[in-house]
Amino acid sequence: MVSRRDFVRRSALAGVSGVVASRMVWATDETTAPPAVRPAVASTWSFGVAANQAALAVLAGGGSALDAVEQGIWVTEADLTNSSVGVGGTPNADGVVQLDACIMDGTTHKAGSVAALEGIAHPISAARRVMEQTRHVMLVGEGARRFALAQGLATAQMPTPERRAEWEKWKARQAAAKQGHDTIALIVVDAQGVMAGGCSTSGLGYKVPGRVGDSPIIGSGLYVDGAVGGAGATGLGENIMRYCGSFAVVERMRQGMTPEEACLSTVKWIVAQEGRTEGLDVNFVALDRYGRAGGAGTSGGFSYSYNAPGSSQVTPAAVAVPVR
Ligand code: ASP
Repeated sequence: MVSRRDFVRRSALAGVSGVVASRMVWATDETTAPPAVRPAVASTWSFGVAANQAALAVLAGGGSALDAVEQGIWVTEADLTNSSVGVGGTPNADGVVQLDACIMDGTTHKAGSVAALEGIAHPISAARRVMEQTRHVMLVGEGARRFALAQGLATAQMPTPERRAEWEKWKARQAAAKQGHDTIALIVVDAQGVMAGGCSTSGLGYKVPGRVGDSPIIGSGLYVDGAVGGAGATGLGENIMRYCGSFAVVERMRQGMTPEEACLSTVKWIVAQEGRTEGLDVNFVALDRYGRAGGAGTSGGFSYSYNAPGSSQVTPAAVAVPVR
C-alpha cells in the first residue's frame, strides 16, 4: 500500500507522462471504500453528498430507485453555485448552456438520454421521460427541447448572470481561461437490491456548440446492470467515451472485481492504451448490487460521495498513475 502523501511525492518525482505501457508500475491509494450496506447511494464529487441524501430520503419515503436517482440529481441541477450541472451550468462558446443527461434502470435495462438540451431546468427528468414515454433512448438539441416542453417540464433562464459574466470575460480573452467541467453521476441500490443510475452535466465549459460528451452516452458516462452494479464517469468526456468507460467498469465487476478494483482497473487500462496520464482526466465511481462503493481516476483530485442510512463519506478516489 502506498499512502496518499507517498503516492503524491512518488508521482511528482517520477513524472507521469510519456510513459511506456509495458513498463508501468502502478501506485494506488489505500482503500477506504465503505462496506456493503443497502440501501446505498454513490455519486461523483463532494457535491454529490446533498444529492445522495435526497436520494436516500426518497427511498426512505417508499420511492423507487429511479425516483431516488431523478430527485437526487434534481438537487445538483437546481444548485446555482454548481457551474457544471443544470441551471448554474457553464455555457458553450456561443454563450448558450447546452445540457446533457441520462438515466438507466438496472432491472429492465431501459435507458433515456438527452444531449445539447437548452432551457430546461431538469435534464434528468427529460431523460427519464425519454425512457418512459417514448420508444427511443436518446433525443438531442431542439427535438429534445420540444419533447421536454411537450412533457410539461419546467424551463429556466440560462446562463445565470454570473455564468454569463464569466463567459463574457472568457470571450474577451479568447480561451485563455480554464474550461471547467464536472458531472453528477449518481447510482442507487435500494434495500432489496434494485438498482438505477443517472448523470447530468453542462459538459465542457465553452465547448464548441453541439459538442456532446460522455455523460449522456449509455455505457460511457453511465451504465447500470442490476445483476451486477452501476458506474458513472466524470472528467474529459472525449477520453471516456472512446473506451465506453462506465460499461468497462461494470463488466469488470461482473468478472468479480470490487467497485474500487473495477474503477482502478479500467482507469489503468485507459492510461495504458493512451501511454499517458497527462491531459486524460478520466474518473469513475461505482456501486455494486451489494451496496459496496468505489472510485478511481487519473487526476488525483477526484473524490466520490457515498451515503447509506447513518453514513456519509466523501472518499478520495484511488489514483491510477504510473510511478515509473
Ligand atoms: N464528462 C463531462 C463531459 O465531458 C464533464 C465532466 O464530468 O467533467 O461532458
